[in-house]
Amino acid sequence: GSTIDVAWARRFIALATADVLAHRVELSELDREIGDGDHGENLARGFTAADAAVQASEATTVGGILKLVATTLMSTVGGAAGPLYGTAFLRAAKVSDVADVDAAGVHALLEAALGGIVARGKANVGDKTMVDAWTPAVAAASEVAAAGGSAADALAAAARAAGEGAEATIPLVALKGRASYLGERSAGHKDPGAASTALLLDAAARAAAE
Ligand code: ADP
Ligand code: MG
Ligand code: MG
Repeated sequence: GSTIDVAWARRFIALATADVLAHRVELSELDREIGDGDHGENLARGFTAADAAVQASEATTVGGILKLVATTLMSTVGGAAGPLYGTAFLRAAKVSDVADVDAAGVHALLEAALGGIVARGKANVGDKTMVDAWTPAVAAASEVAAAGGSAADALAAAARAAGEGAEATIPLVALKGRASYLGERSAGHKDPGAASTALLLDAAARAAAE
């Protein structure tokens, strides 16, 4: 169909959790280069708890699931990424407390998530953070929605754009978060939060394609 629903939300979190667990070492290695090496472990802990809560939940809306993810991530992830992803999921939940979400709804949900991250972390595009993956993802979803595409198309385009945005952080000098302590030495490494954003949006897209 052209929309995503609560079953999509459950599949998304199951796939996201499996992907985080499969890539936890890689995400922590990225964080070891320019941070404190815990990003993969932080997300593995958070998504394992979120997935357990989600699969046991009787929520009937997309937002009901996303809100549960938000509160679980906030209480389990810690560091910078916990509050950032927690706020992203919370804001996304607020605009998706409905049974079915279309492409315009996907755009609204992603835009709300990005708004939460920026409200919390105050990063600008180009500061070498997860914002550099979320921003092109929101723009890509907007284009698909304007062109009359499906929710699955919007998520696929968003995931592709997030992946490109994450790659594009490599040459950047970090201006926010722990990586900024390295100054110029942060250049030449991919930002771990941008990499995990691309991974999460890829799971969201695959959950919609099923
Ligand atoms: P910590 O740095 O506390 O160990 P994590 O390793 O889990 O937390 O997460 C690091 C990621 O958080 C970074 O790669 C970056 O993408 C993101 N991040 C850090 N500070 C900010 C910020 N102010 N705005 C947006 N994203 C940020
Ligand atoms: Mg870290
Ligand atoms: Mg840390």
